[in-house]
Amino acid sequence: MARANAAYYAHHDPFADFTTAPEISQVFGEIIGLWAAVTWELLGRPRPVLLAEAGPGRGTLMADALRAIGKMAPAFRAELSVHLIETSPRLAAAQAVCVPEAAWHDRVETLPAGPILLVANEFLDALPIRQFVRRAGEWTERYVHDGRFAELPYRGARPPSPCGFGLLSRPKLGGGGDSCRSVAKRCPDVLELRESALMLAEALGARLAARSGAALFLDYGPTESTSGDSLQAIRDGRPADPLAEPGNADLTAHVDFAAFAAAARAAGVAVHGPIPQGIFLTRLGLFQRTDHLAGNRHPAEALALIEAANRLAEPNRMGRLFKALALCHPACPTPPGFES
Ligand code: SAH
Repeated sequence: MARANAAYYAHHDPFADFTTAPEISQVFGEIIGLWAAVTWELLGRPRPVLLAEAGPGRGTLMADALRAIGKMAPAFRAELSVHLIETSPRLAAAQAVCVPEAAWHDRVETLPAGPILLVANEFLDALPIRQFVRRAGEWTERYVHDGRFAELPYRGARPPSPCGFGLLSRPKLGGGGDSCRSVAKRCPDVLELRESALMLAEALGARLAARSGAALFLDYGPTESTSGDSLQAIRDGRPADPLAEPGNADLTAHVDFAAFAAAARAAGVAVHGPIPQGIFLTRLGLFQRTDHLAGNRHPAEALALIEAANRLAEPNRMGRLFKALALCHPACPTPPGFES
């Protein structure tokens, strides 16, 4: 999956296959930019500060965020430098058009040192996963070989778990997802391990605990760890066979928020959420800002803006399956949107 997805992002315009929140409404990026600005204030205005985005796609979110920050939070704008983490040269070129001031990096772990505000939308779901299948009581690991799934006996000392190999406590299985990106095929005999995401949670957790900073992830998946096969391919806006034409469809898997949060917490950082995206965006003024924008537009454009906000927030559309999760320096007060 890692190689197929790297090839996919390197050679395709993913936005021909699926639409993400920043491409649906400019208000999404504006809200996230202002979330970073307010959180920077809560952290005591550390300076200079990095504003980073992981997996920025076309650069739309960051461009919208910077415009809003420039208007509403000039002190933050004056102190920040922009850093984008992107592995696809094709998408990095598109980002350079929208955000010419950015510096590019391959990995979160290789960002320059210093206080950081990091944001990421639909990034974690693009990271590679491992899948384990139980057959007659024995675990096997599922690989892709010659365009087909193949299974090899799993010989680890500990049984596989969504949190690693028994290193962290195993969260209870349950929960489930809804809508938009399709729901995982729940099956107690398939387990997914998101090693890349867990390693990122650990590295970022340690960095944020040691220095000032915070990170905001918006992505889709259930609140509790759940078993089952969540690997999906999306082509032309529709589910596709994950093995057909590797590198030609976007491969994604549900984010395991419970395991991600546990790994970050173990590294010393405070975790807020996950909470449903619809609640998060509504608390931060999605509809007020949309109404304000719509007030100056022709009726058809105004309706499209309101429809876009509804799509992001309604529970049976993107509002509930998508979640917001924040990692913050332990001394940081609760960041905006996560108040209980
Ligand atoms: N955040 C954007 C794009 C989401 S698509 C939006 O919401 O529109 C996933 C993005 O992550 C793409 O930009 C893809 O090239 C990037 N990406 C995927 N795997 C990556 C990795 N391992 N490291 C860095 N970027 C990655």
